[in-house]
Amino acid sequence: MSTAVITGGAGFLGSHLCDRLIQEGQSVICLDNLLTGSIDNISHLTGSSAFRFVRCDVTEDVFIEEDVDFVYHCASPASPSDFLRLPIETLRAGSFGTHLMLELAARKKARFLLASSSEVYGDPLTHPQSETYWGNVNPIGPRGVYDESKRYAEAVTMAYHRYRGLDTRIARIFNTYGERMRVDDGRAIPAFIKQALHGHDITVFGDGTQTRSVSYVADTVEGLLRLMKSDYRLPMNIGSPEEIAIGRLAEEIIGLTNSKSKIVYKALPEDDPKVRQPDISLAKRVLKWEPRVSRQEGLIRTIQYFRTKTS
Ligand code: UDP
Repeated sequence: MSTAVITGGAGFLGSHLCDRLIQEGQSVICLDNLLTGSIDNISHLTGSSAFRFVRCDVTEDVFIEEDVDFVYHCASPASPSDFLRLPIETLRAGSFGTHLMLELAARKKARFLLASSSEVYGDPLTHPQSETYWGNVNPIGPRGVYDESKRYAEAVTMAYHRYRGLDTRIARIFNTYGERMRVDDGRAIPAFIKQALHGHDITVFGDGTQTRSVSYVADTVEGLLRLMKSDYRLPMNIGSPEEIAIGRLAEEIIGLTNSKSKIVYKALPEDDPKVRQPDISLAKRVLKWEPRVSRQEGLIRTIQYFRTKTS
């Protein structure tokens, strides 16, 4: 039985990864300081002998006794409202956190996967974004704390790979949604669903023409697993290539919830990317992976989950 360490394992994405690895017969050590994650996301796993939760901060040293085969470094605030609220913690998770988890992987001779982000492309000047694009990031803008944290994390991961011989993977994860996102997470999909279910105004920032490409969490997790199992060591986009304007996404959620909510327009946050769409030809070719769950199906499942959380 192989053992995986998942940092941020009590978070939205991390907890789905825990589930999936346990289903695959792996043993999971979940590390989380519960800053943005929640015990509720993993409480169904705590009775399993294949699962161990350690409440700790991965930016401080962490001692793991067991042998470890895989390290998935997912720990970081990821929602813009979280990383604006927790800027120093976000920078620490990508810098100290990545360093220490790379050291852990080196000590254990484990394979390491960095959960990087499409934010490394910033407000992109090429469209769609392929892995060869270097990005357009404002290092001192409000989003810089997240963008540069992930860019630094990629740099240090490649350095451990090139100069220390560590077996590493880098996933550039695009917008992902699904069950276990926090109702107050602040990202577009949870915000719109919560507003729609309460009949409140739907707050679209800017004129709603900015685009995103949203992937259902099970598809993203499948991509991460395949990347870890592959022998591809340069960054790889994992996300949905289906692009949608944010205003249109709000309308879809109003439709799927049968809500009477109206759209209201609010100021666009500073440096908000105008477009985002991954070129996933690399993942298709190397991993034989592409998203399977349609946006309609994924949103229906997510709305169902939010109904149980917002009453
Ligand atoms: N957004 C919005 N209303 C909200 C939250 C977000 O219009 O209540 C917009 C946001 O400005 C951005 C897009 O939706 O253009 C996606 O935002 P999100 O926070 O989900 O993630 P991002 O892709 O910006 O990291």
